[in-house]
Amino acid sequence: GQDDRIARIASAIRVIPNFPKPGILFQDITTLLLDTKAFRDTIDLFVERYKGKDISVVAGIEARGFIFGPPIALAIGAKFVPMRKPNKLPGEVISEEYSLEYGSDKMEMHVGAVQAGERALVIDDLIATGGTLCAAIRLLERVGVDVVECACVIELPELKGRDRLGEKPLFVLVNAP
Ligand code: AMP
Repeated sequence: GQDDRIARIASAIRVIPNFPKPGILFQDITTLLLDTKAFRDTIDLFVERYKGKDISVVAGIEARGFIFGPPIALAIGAKFVPMRKPNKLPGEVISEEYSLEYGSDKMEMHVGAVQAGERALVIDDLIATGGTLCAAIRLLERVGVDVVECACVIELPELKGRDRLGEKPLFVLVNAP
């Protein structure tokens, strides 16, 4: 059943303390990618949720949204749009700044990749404070896209990123302590 699949996914995620800096518990999804059943189940659970929902855009956040986004996009018949770190995309971009724990960063998307009125799903591996997903939502909404939902493999509920998303629905497979 669904719970068995979730349990296997949760146990395939490796937790590495003090990476990339002291005090951070890093949720490493590369071990999930090594477990062919757990990886397939991860994609299937998202596809089961979004198939038939008239979503034409899967927007994946660099870098680990680039792993989960494309197989979901192909399975639901949507295009995949990369949301990239600054100065990576070669064409004309629109960009959105967002704040980090120390300083700020920028997210960029190609102009013309999406059209006003399209329905999008935003995907990343993990939501912590929610700042990254919020920037992606703002970027898409600025060009008139309807962001239907955000989806992550992992949520760190203690950081209350879900609250930061406000009314925007968030779907996650695994809650990490
Ligand atoms: P945030 O903007 O605070 O929600 O952070 C989410 C982004 O940072 C995602 O792209 C994650 O891949 C990454 N991230 C934040 N915290 C962790 C963590 N503990 N383990 C792995 N990735 C993380």
